Amino acid sequence: GSAARLPHVVMLATPGMGHLIPLAELAKRLAARHGVTATLIAFASTASATQRAFLASLPPSITSLHLPPVDLSDLPHGTAIETLMSEECARSIPALTQVLTKLKETNRLVAFITDFFGMDSFDAASNVGVERRYLFIPTNLHMLMLLLHLPELDLSIPGEFRDLAEPLQLPGCVPIPGMDILSPLQDRANPCYRWMVHHASRTKEADAILVNSFDAVEPEAAAVLHQQELGRPPVYNIGPLILTRSKSTGVMSTAPPASSRAECLDWLDLQPARSVTFVSFGSGGALPTEQMRELALGLELSGQRFLWVVRSPSDEGTVSDNYYDAESKKDPIVFLPEGFIERTRDVGFLVSSWAPQIDVLSHEATGGFLTHCGWNSTLESLIHGVPMVAWPLYAEQHQNAVMLDEGIGAVIRVPEPKGKDMIARVVKELMVGEGKGAAVRTTVAKLQENALQGLTECGAAATALAELVEKWEVGEN
Ligand code: UDP
Repeated sequence: GSAARLPHVVMLATPGMGHLIPLAELAKRLAARHGVTATLIAFASTASATQRAFLASLPPSITSLHLPPVDLSDLPHGTAIETLMSEECARSIPALTQVLTKLKETNRLVAFITDFFGMDSFDAASNVGVERRYLFIPTNLHMLMLLLHLPELDLSIPGEFRDLAEPLQLPGCVPIPGMDILSPLQDRANPCYRWMVHHASRTKEADAILVNSFDAVEPEAAAVLHQQELGRPPVYNIGPLILTRSKSTGVMSTAPPASSRAECLDWLDLQPARSVTFVSFGSGGALPTEQMRELALGLELSGQRFLWVVRSPSDEGTVSDNYYDAESKKDPIVFLPEGFIERTRDVGFLVSSWAPQIDVLSHEATGGFLTHCGWNSTLESLIHGVPMVAWPLYAEQHQNAVMLDEGIGAVIRVPEPKGKDMIARVVKELMVGEGKGAAVRTTVAKLQENALQGLTECGAAATALAELVEKWEVGEN
């Protein structure tokens, strides 16, 4: 049939590669398996070179565009990322409505999908009469369970989450200590808290909720959420959606220059199998100067090989600087302890700002991942069977670390205070230890098998997605 007859899905990704990448992957899968075309919409604030290069690399069945910029200059300096994203979205509704109206003229729009910070864009989809509105959760079921309960927790908890006497126990979830709950929920006086509750209260408007997780990583939460419940949209666990190699270029990197093979991969080629710990804190993560020094000394003391994506310390700029643009503002190398580079020359390799993470994780020399527990990093690690040391920084990373540790035992957490001796001990345990390290390595190998199985043609993720697409054909919600 003609392209206009093909089901067309519109996706809106709020700022952050962590939102854009999995949505793009979802679009790719819908295209490859179900003949669906898609328009991927992003915001003006993130129209960086990195993002443009990424969007340009998508297959022709996926069109992309940026919404026009909106004025955010009235928001005070230091406004939280979550507030910035929510405001940018709320102020973009008129522009988005126009875009959707145009798209509807030439396409059979079957669904509109956005992530949590884009909830207000449901209004634009309704304005235009798009039939189905889906919420996409780029993280996990634990996160979804928290968001579903947030409106009621907002009323029932009198103070701050961090002051709770007992860990928060949600159905099917690992109990999460209050201070490990999602960081934008930690200060009720901050507008980002209200925004979170606002979005959470709209989740029930979704016709379905799609989650980038898989059952084996949080089996009890999956059992709860797979049951239909009155007043709660059905939940589809469709992960792990991770960045896949672009067919035309064979390149996996999201950052330019994407044409030449990264030097760190050549270095990995020379290392023994499973001997290297990859150290990275995601697209926005950076450590305070003092912790960066302890980490350096800890890696050195561990006696293990390492590949470290070094960023300028966080006290040199704000997290959101990095969040919107992954390039370090200053040369990070100058913040390392004196003599560190010379002393570790034979066992360590440093990359400034950005590494082709998936290529690194899939390399046979990589045996461990010291990660901030961002959900994309976690999924990428699991699907490549790489056990993790958890060093969470912000957002939902602390609760991810608790769930991965106490729920399934896929990580070793670095106990506080994070001094060099402790860091060395944990890294060594992960790589060669016979206790917890061995258990984590076994668990992660099983999870890898499970994740891969779910992605095969009749696996759980593929089946969930097929079930959804079927509704579009027969015209159900
Ligand atoms: N990433 C990368 N190279 C880097 C740092 C990050 O390719 O040096 C990619 C990584 O593979 C993942 C994403 O950026 O896909 C980070 O997402 P995650 O959810 O782990 O963390 P966030 O950046 O949202 O904190």
